[in-house]
Formats: sequence, structure tokens, C-alpha cells
Amino acid sequence: MEDSNLRIPGPVPLPKETLEIMSRQMINHRGHEYAMMLEEMSSNLKSVLMTKSDVYFITASGTGAMESAIVNTTSPGDNILSISIGWFGQRFGDISDAYGCKTTRLEFESGEPADPEKVKKEILKNNNYKAVLITHNESSSGVRNPLREICEVIKNNSNALILVDAVSSAAGTRISTDGWGIDIVATASQKSWIAPPGIAMISFSEKAWKAYESSSSPKYYYDVKQYKDYLEIGQPPFTPALTTMFALQYSLNRMIEEGIENIFEKHSEIAKFTRTKANDIGLQILPKEEFASDTVTAIKLPENIDGKKLVNEIKENYNIVLGGGQQKLAGKIVRIGHMGWVEKKDIEDSINALKETLGKRN
Ligand code: PMP
Repeated sequence: MEDSNLRIPGPVPLPKETLEIMSRQMINHRGHEYAMMLEEMSSNLKSVLMTKSDVYFITASGTGAMESAIVNTTSPGDNILSISIGWFGQRFGDISDAYGCKTTRLEFESGEPADPEKVKKEILKNNNYKAVLITHNESSSGVRNPLREICEVIKNNSNALILVDAVSSAAGTRISTDGWGIDIVATASQKSWIAPPGIAMISFSEKAWKAYESSSSPKYYYDVKQYKDYLEIGQPPFTPALTTMFALQYSLNRMIEEGIENIFEKHSEIAKFTRTKANDIGLQILPKEEFASDTVTAIKLPENIDGKKLVNEIKENYNIVLGGGQQKLAGKIVRIGHMGWVEKKDIEDSINALKETLGKRN
């Protein structure tokens, strides 16, 4: 069967070279070859995340990176502020709850970004937050939060750690980890990193290490100290998803070659292209232009259209896989992913399929 045009916000399609690399034979993860690979990948990951802090590769999906952020810096009973603009924002707060933190939820409407002024107000009202949790790019609504401004407000008004879910933003959207004062960035291989699922990545600041010292949350597999100690001898603490590591090593090298600024620009351009094409067929974008995501576009559907059926029909008739809406947005939007390896034609085909399928309903 022919491959689908996979236009969901991750996992992303992989180029032929990556697929070939994924057929490589296994290696000893406690041997010299792995140590060299890990060193090179760590250095490249730091460049993409714009950080001098420690970075770690963890065999897990993105949620594992989010859980790592919580368990390594908090203790049960800590006050945590969870800023949520959608499904994944809620998940971050849920993890905080699961580890016994006192989670205060600051929630914004679907399709809206977080308002830095409201964040400031909340922080000033209760200035003993241990950490603030925030999603950079909310994949469920196609909204990119004004992260830089929000980090500024947090830093200027509190001593809280800043823990960022950058699962669907990093490597596609600028995230200046050190420049913006972010303590932990959590991301995952199957997104703009152009690799299969299986590897979560985190950055871990000095301040996060200080918090680690007093953190009493239960942890074992995600205990970052194990990753740190093993990294010093060029090893992972546990058997890694080697195939995903091979693919990720390749794409990290390509990213450095291409230049990270060029990659951000490319994402921004294809996102604009997607919005323009959607507008051209009379559809509206869910978020306002300035908060529209560079990696996934959420398109509003006319009231009389059932989004779930539409997505199924487009898969059936065109072999194009679009994302549907989740929770409150179920049936009301379609989402087109455009992170990583994507051509204008992939977007044009998706919009044409949308146009033709919607046209049949009129
Ligand atoms: N956060 C965001 C913003 C995401 O887009 C996703 C994945 N869609 C996750 C978290 C969870 O990642 P995973 O499914 O890899 O655990």
C-alpha cells in the first residue's frame, strides 16, 4: 500500500535516508561507538535548544520528558502553577497532581494563548510557586504561547522554576532555553526532530539541579542523576531505543548543517502558506495570526460539518491523514501538521482534499 500523506502533528513522515538508517544493525550501548554517538548528539541537541545546560536522552515518549521535569524538581505538597491552553497543558497539570503537588490551574479558552498579564497577577497573588508548567506550542489548538514574555513575567516576579512542554515546538520553533531562563525543556523525537517515536529529550539547568537536591518525589527510571552519572562514562543508564537514536543522530547532524535559523524560517513559511491556502478556500484559522503555530495549523470548520467524518473521508478518498479536534474542539476543527520534512505540495494536496470534500457537502 502506498504511504499516506501523514499530516498529523507527529509522528512525522521520515525521509528515505532516515528509513535506511533505521535498518542498521544494533550496537553495544555500553561500547565506544555509542559513547561517540551520545557525545555528538548531546552537543548538537544543546545547539538546537540554545543552551549550555545539561541535556539528556531518555527512552520514552514526550510525556516521559514532562514527567521527568516534575519528578526531578518537586516534592509532594509543593505549590505548582499549571498554565493550560488545551489538552496537553492539562496533562502537565495532571502529572503534577499525580505526584502529590498542590496544582493551581490557570486555564485559557481553546484557541487562545496564555495572557502574560494574567500569569503575572496569579504569581503575585500567591508568590510561593515552586514551579510553573507551561506548554510552548499547544498541538490540540494550533496555538503558540508567547513563551518569551511569559518567562519574563515569571522571572521578574518570582523564583519559580520554569518547566516547558516543548514537545511540538522544539526544533521547529525558536526556543531560547538559556536566553529566556527556562529550567527544563521537554521534547520528543517524533516531532520536528524528524525521527521515529521513542526518545524523549530534556534540558536541565543549574537551578533545576538545586531543586533536585531537595526533591523528594518518587523516581527511579526518570531519575535524572542516573542519566548524568552514566553520561560521564558515555553510556545511558538503561537500554536505549537504538533505532530511534540512529535516526535522531542523523537528523540532528542535518539540522546543524542546514542551520537552525533556516529551519525556524522554513517552518514559519510553511505555516503561513498553510494558513493562506486555508483562507483561500474560505476557511478560518482558529487562533489569531500572531499566535498561530509554526508546526500545526488548526482550521475551523463550518458549523454544519462533522469534523470526524470529514477526516475519515479524506483518509479514505485521498490517503491524506489530517488531525481531528480533541475534547471541546472535537468535530469542530481539522489540524494539519507541518513539522519537520514537509513540502508545499503536501499542504496543497491536503487543502485541495479539504476543499473538494467540503464542496460535496454544499
Ligand atoms: N505535549 C504536546 C504539546 C504534544 O504535542 C504531545 C504529543 N502530541 C505531547 C505533549 C505528548 O507526547 P507523547 O505522545 O510523545 O507522550
